[in-house]
This record gives sequence, C-alpha cells and structure tokens, in this order.
Amino acid sequence: MTRVGIVGGGQLGMMLAEAAGPLGIECVALDPGPGAPASRACHQIVAAYDDAGALDELAAASDVCTYEFENVPLGAAAFLAERRPVLPPPKALEIAQDRLLEKTMFDDVGLRVAPWAPVGSKEELEEAREAIGAPSVLKTRRLGYDGKGQETITDVDDAPDAWRRLGEVPSILESFVGFDRELSILGVRALDGATAFYPLVENRHREGILRVSIAPGPDVTPELQAAAEAHATAVMDRLGYVGVLAIELFQVGETLLGNEMAPRVHNSGHWTIEGAATSQFENHLRAICGLELGPTTRTGYSAMVNLIGRMPGRDAIPAGPAVHVHAYGKHERPGRKLGHITVVGDDRDTVFQVLQVITRTSDT
Ligand code: AMP
Repeated sequence: MTRVGIVGGGQLGMMLAEAAGPLGIECVALDPGPGAPASRACHQIVAAYDDAGALDELAAASDVCTYEFENVPLGAAAFLAERRPVLPPPKALEIAQDRLLEKTMFDDVGLRVAPWAPVGSKEELEEAREAIGAPSVLKTRRLGYDGKGQETITDVDDAPDAWRRLGEVPSILESFVGFDRELSILGVRALDGATAFYPLVENRHREGILRVSIAPGPDVTPELQAAAEAHATAVMDRLGYVGVLAIELFQVGETLLGNEMAPRVHNSGHWTIEGAATSQFENHLRAICGLELGPTTRTGYSAMVNLIGRMPGRDAIPAGPAVHVHAYGKHERPGRKLGHITVVGDDRDTVFQVLQVITRTSDT
C-alpha cells in the first residue's frame, strides 16, 4: 500500500484522501486546525506546518509527500524533501508563492501576461504608475488568494494609498484586463513525463472568489484548447512537474493571458469527480505515486457551484441523480468555501437550468 502524506487538511486534502482508497493508497494529512476537513477521510496530524517533529512524523508515515495549498512554508517542503520525494517539486511552490517569479516564468515559456511592473519601493511605485497607468490592479507578491492582497486602481494618484493599505509589502502593479472571460486549464504530468489535460473550464468569480465553473467552457475552439495545453505543457516541462497543475487564464479574443497557477488540485476541477472518467484527485495521486494516468475525458456537461459562507437548506437544492452535493464539514463564516454542488448531464441546457436554480437559492 502506497502512503501519501498531504501538507494541508482542507477540502482539497479531504477529496484527495477520498480518492485514495480505491487506488490502494493511504493518506495522512498535516494541518494545525483540529478536525480539519481531511480528518473526515484520513488520519490527521494536528500541528503547525513548521513543526519539525510533526513533519518528521508525516515523512515517516508516507512514501511520497504532496500538498494541497500553495502557501506551504518552503522550509517545511525542503525538510520533507530531505526525507521523502515531494511532488509536485518544491520549485513549483516557490514560483507559485511569488507573483513576480510566476509572471516572469510565464513570460519565459511563452505564455503572455498582462503588462506589469514590480513595486518594492516608493521609487518603483512611481515607475510602475508611469509604465502601467490605470485602470490597474496592485497585488502583493505573496500570500494573495481569493482576491485578498489586491487593490483595484482607477486613478494612478490613488496608487500610494492603495500600496499603504496593502502594508507597503513587495507587490506588482498589473494592467486591468478587460477579458472576455476567465478560463482554467488543468493538466496532469506523470513521473515518466506523460501528460493529460481536462477540457478548458469557464470560471465566474465575484469579489475575487470562484463562484461557478462550467465544463467544458462553452464555445471553446479546438485551437484554444490546444493553445492552453501547450502553455501548461511548457510550464510543467520547465518545472519537471509531477501531479495536477492548474493555470488560471484570461481570454481576450482568441488570446490567452496567464493570470496565476496553482501547483495542486484546484477548485475549478471539482466537477471532474462526477463529470470526468478520472477525477483530478485520482489523477494527482496516480501521478505522484508512479501509476499510469487515467483518462481525462468528460462524461457529459458539468457545472459546479461553490457554497460560500452559508450552507443552503436541503429544500434549496434540486433533487435528482445529476445533482451532487459535497459538504466539507466546516463552520459557516462569511466568504468561506463550505462545500460545492456539481450538476452533470447529457444536455447542456438542462444542466444550465439546474445551475440557475442553485445559484438563485444558494446566494452564490
Ligand atoms: P487572482 O488572485 O490574481 O487570481 O485574482 C482574483 C480575481 O481578480 C481574478 O480571477 C479576476 O477575476 C480578477 N483579476 C485579477 N487580476 C486582474 C486583472 N489584471 N484584470 C482584471 N481582473 C483581474
């Protein structure tokens, strides 16, 4: 039995652990919060991510280690890597944790990004205001997620105040992109370098938080799918990547711009549990455990709705075999992802109708 140690015990860790059983894989998760979602599906070590004793325990209980969020302390990843293989490689973490490194790498591998400039000092802020102008988005280089650590700037004169509100930490100023829509590509790379990709997903955000994913994204051309796969391949090859990688993209006309990447299973891939031949969770485990990848073909049309802040009552969720409700067992709190619903069907219009009922009643 292969044993997988997961750094992080949130819902992504939980769904990884749920996918592990049928593969003959046993998971253990490290998370500081007692009763983290993953503890519903596997053993949890309750300790801080930089607790050397706990990391030692995780390594001892694992054949390979992975992670389910990108802000794993690099020291913890390095500590584990001295004891066990850590996949995806810690280099991917380092880059995903820093928007400046991430955008530089996207550029290097030919994935275009919105014009941007570094903001590490008052002088650089001046230069960035000149170069990028407004509208633009000031983003902290580190620890930004779900729209946190960001300030939208409509007048360049507001930039110094916006940077002050962000704590004057190292940041980047990025042009605001009037995108047609947001998409994400999820790819998976095996130990032997084999790759597989899920269909491009259309994502709808509000207040910086993902609300709805539609898979496949409507009207995605084969050319657009091929371009996204080529970009993901280039990133994965560059990093010697193993596991699932998500890249969030802006579509502008027929052009794709890279926004950010997640070196892990991703919220926009939750639909794959019921909507694809092999889920992203299973394929991540297959990749890091040296198993052959499973087919990524979709089984129908899917839509996924995040349940945020408040769980809807049972009455608010349409019944039926095509509606799959996932609850993460977390306490309700504004802005918190508490669960998701996936609708899968052979007929896209029907899936959209059910999606509309859910979004109307679940406050999403
Ligand atoms: P991020 O944390 O960079 O993924 O940003 C969260 C969300 O904010 C994105 O999914 C977009 O909806 C929006 N956003 C971020 N950067 C930009 C940008 N440069 N132009 C327009 N919208 C953006």
